[in-house]
Amino acid sequence: MTFAPIGAGDLVGHPGVTREISVRGTVEGLGTDVAGVPGEIDADVRLESVIQGILVSGRLTGVFSLRCARCLDGFERPFALDVSELLVVGPLSDPDWYELGPEGEIDLGPMIVDAIGVELPFAPLCRLDCLGLCETCGGDRNLSQCPGHEQLDPRWAGLEVLLERTND
Ligand SMILES: [Zn+2]
Ligand SMILES: [Zn+2]
Repeated sequence: MTFAPIGAGDLVGHPGVTREISVRGTVEGLGTDVAGVPGEIDADVRLESVIQGILVSGRLTGVFSLRCARCLDGFERPFALDVSELLVVGPLSDPDWYELGPEGEIDLGPMIVDAIGVELPFAPLCRLDCLGLCETCGGDRNLSQCPGHEQLDPRWAGLEVLLERTND
């Protein structure tokens, strides 16, 4: 389930009034080829009425679903990140802010997509010393040595690089 709108109309226009909420949901439109958050995200946030609207601050927790950039294995890694965003009564005069609904509803979706989007790793590694895939046979070098073929003679490695350059 995506995040349901949170009614906060009673807070709007009452600067200083706060409320703590804990909600859970999924978001769409978040992810790359190697990273995403398909599961639920917990948002434990404080809503604070300020002069411009509602300040939402707190913590998002969930699990990144990742694909190792070296061995292409899928794996998961939990995350927790702090957010602090201002939602204002529209129209927006600052692109860094978010807009409250007409009745003062808070839609956490867009701010969560933005906050997590910048944290998605570009080149996730299943572990720091992941050996990756064999360039010759494509086998996972974390699992085994390559038995099915000869390793390239290191004396020829320089020539191989030269050939590759020539082909470019
Ligand atoms: Zn890996
Ligand atoms: Zn191999």
